[in-house]
Amino acid sequence: MRQKQSPERQKSKSVDKRFSEAEKHILPVLPLPGQVLYPSPEITNAYQVVRKQSVAAVRYSMEVTNSDILLLTMKHEVDNPQAEHLYEIGTLGEILQSLDIQDGSIKLLISSTARVRVLELLEGGEFLKASVEVMVDEANAEAQVAKDAEVQALVNNLISVLREYINTVKRLPKEILGQIEEITSADDSGDPVQLSNTVSQCLAPSLGIQAQQEILETVDLKKRLEKLIGIIVSQIQIHSIEKDIEGRIHEQVSKQQKEFYLTERMKAIQKELGRGPHNFAEEDELKKKIAEAKMSKEAEEKALKELGRLKQMPPMSAESGVIRNYIDWLVSMPWAISTGEAKSVDIEDAEKILDEDHYALKKPKERILEYLAVLRLVEKLKGPILCFIGPPGVGKTSLAKSIARATGRNFVRMSLGGVRDEAEIRGHRRTYIGSMPGRIIQGLRKAKSRNPLFLLDEIDKMSMDFRGDPSAALLEVLDPEQNHSFNDHYLEVDFDLSDVLFITTGNFLNAVPIPLRDRMEVIEIPGYTEYEKEKIAELFLVPKQLKANGLSSDMVSFSKSAIFGIIREYTREAGVRNLERELASICRKVARKVVKENAEDCDEKRKYNLTRRNVKSYLGVAKFTHGRAEEEDQIGVATGLAYTASGGDILAIEVTTMEGDGQLQLTGKLGDVMQESAKAALSYIRSKTMDLPTMNLPQESGFYSKHDIHIHVPEGAVPKDGPSAGITMATAMVSALTHKPVKSDYAMTGEITLRGRVLPIGGLKEKVLAALRADITNIIIPRDNEKDLSELPPEIRKKLIFHLVDNMDKVLELAIRQ
Ligand code: ADP
Repeated sequence: MRQKQSPERQKSKSVDKRFSEAEKHILPVLPLPGQVLYPSPEITNAYQVVRKQSVAAVRYSMEVTNSDILLLTMKHEVDNPQAEHLYEIGTLGEILQSLDIQDGSIKLLISSTARVRVLELLEGGEFLKASVEVMVDEANAEAQVAKDAEVQALVNNLISVLREYINTVKRLPKEILGQIEEITSADDSGDPVQLSNTVSQCLAPSLGIQAQQEILETVDLKKRLEKLIGIIVSQIQIHSIEKDIEGRIHEQVSKQQKEFYLTERMKAIQKELGRGPHNFAEEDELKKKIAEAKMSKEAEEKALKELGRLKQMPPMSAESGVIRNYIDWLVSMPWAISTGEAKSVDIEDAEKILDEDHYALKKPKERILEYLAVLRLVEKLKGPILCFIGPPGVGKTSLAKSIARATGRNFVRMSLGGVRDEAEIRGHRRTYIGSMPGRIIQGLRKAKSRNPLFLLDEIDKMSMDFRGDPSAALLEVLDPEQNHSFNDHYLEVDFDLSDVLFITTGNFLNAVPIPLRDRMEVIEIPGYTEYEKEKIAELFLVPKQLKANGLSSDMVSFSKSAIFGIIREYTREAGVRNLERELASICRKVARKVVKENAEDCDEKRKYNLTRRNVKSYLGVAKFTHGRAEEEDQIGVATGLAYTASGGDILAIEVTTMEGDGQLQLTGKLGDVMQESAKAALSYIRSKTMDLPTMNLPQESGFYSKHDIHIHVPEGAVPKDGPSAGITMATAMVSALTHKPVKSDYAMTGEITLRGRVLPIGGLKEKVLAALRADITNIIIPRDNEKDLSELPPEIRKKLIFHLVDNMDKVLELAIRQ
């Protein structure tokens, strides 16, 4: 648009002369779209006029107003501009040259000379016209400001910032500086007005219409100079910020490029070394998995770091395998997956589920429901861990499974039996070859959720050796204060276990390490009575086994007596696991017969009825004969009751005396505690020789040094221990020493002290059941065990006579026949 100064420019009229003429005239208006022309006679602008109205205005100007034309900028572009679309301050233009183009438009060369204000805009004609006034006498202003030091300072400043602008922003051609210098050095002080207008014109393309117009409307020279300086400085600043941003983006891009380049190089090097290409797809896949696993921040950082190491390693090296395995463990942990909502556990539903899956077990079920109710209220359990204690096969595991079902949690089980090493719980450090995370982390991965029900089986079978105490590690796992940041040695990063519902099980409470016992709420599940077992078989086990073996109740039926027969003669257990196994065995045999029948195409389908009699044909000869009470009263034989892992049994204790040298012999694989209690029983008897006149104990002095006493407990292959046979041994000894028989329908259990006090024992229910099975009718038990009687089913209590005793004298009185 800008053009070199044309020769016509020299002929241009001076401003004051033109003004006096223009004043009398009304000027045609040429609206300028998107551009302001500043009064600067030195600059010639080329312009093409296309609009019909504008063409008419130009012609009018050349014909009538001596090429004078009013240049007004449009506020925004419109096709047919009216008064409201135009700014009121513009410049006075002079058409220097015009050239008609064929399409009806005109090409112009214009220069503008002075700021003018519209006095009146005349609409309605073919084009707009306006009467105007010039805003300042610029010629005078020029003379005036020449002496003003402030203006001079502003001019200097403007030139210097402009120079910087041109040099740094590089949006204006360098030649402009030359033009400017020309202006300033025109005479000794230069022409600040012209300078300001020229600079304005130069800056215009990088400014918006509004800003351009504001400069035009700033009539005061000083203010205009200041404004220009301000605009230039802010443009420089914006430019430097832009450059900064650009620089940063460039840095990022070049980092990526560098990485790309280096990976390509690495691929080439690997190939050269014959190590095969890196599996980049696999690494990308791992990276994706890391992002998807939603790990803790710590774990994600660790995983990415290891991935970085993996990338630098030869792919087939042993170490890269270790790292890959490690990352695989990290990504496959259920960091953010949970199932079921603590809040949504419905206690009634839970009760239904527990009843659906289990017969009897009233107390454990109630306790479990209370536990679930608390869980629902507090959402996060800080309380004790549940621990089911009871013999095998009583339904501990299956209760836990039902709880998982009721709470919508995944179920995972881990046996602690034989765990001796802390590392089995907490994992091995990765420096070991073939190291693995501990069982807790393994279990969680298997559970596929971060809040499963985690069953820790056989907590009483853990042991300890020099490699550390597993129970200490387990303590941390189970402690709600600590387990939100469980640290596995292999995983190295913390995993939150606080949402896991831990339940433990075991057979004997005594064998559970004491610190662990403290953390746990023990729910004892004693063995079942025969009646309960029969019901469980009828309602649960038989239907389950029929289904598992593809049979139906139309094909097979079990009579009650058959089930009792199986319970008594083929199983010896407190739970129902073997019973289930025997039932399964029968079902399999029936299934085989059914298949054979089908093959033979028998018309009539047989139904197999299992009765007491034909059980033998399925299961073979009876496996067990339960201890039976002695048929007749015997001397030196007393019936004790024992609590074994498989429930309870009766125990015949035999004592005989013979001449000898005062030894006490014990046979029948008796444990230390039992041996000691035999010795205590003997000492009690010796000390009581005089106090029990009715017993007629040997009075002869030196009797015990001339006689040996031999205590034997048959079934020698089965180890026996515990203090509860104390009163039985004492009774058998007294019977042997006094030659008085023991009543055959009596059985007894109780610990004896040296002074003859009878102390309470455990496992009463199992012992009582064993006695009942053996057709015993009278049972002697310690008085302190009276409270346990209430737990016995009433039908059992009715069948037996219980004698509660506090001391041995009473036992002898009851059991020895006079
Ligand atoms: P544990 O874990 O105590 O050794 P399990 O839970 O494995 O015993 O139980 C063994 C079998 O006996 C399972 O099939 C279980 O369903 C069944 N069972 C145990 N108690 C009951 C019961 N009260 N009602 C129904 N089935 C039972």
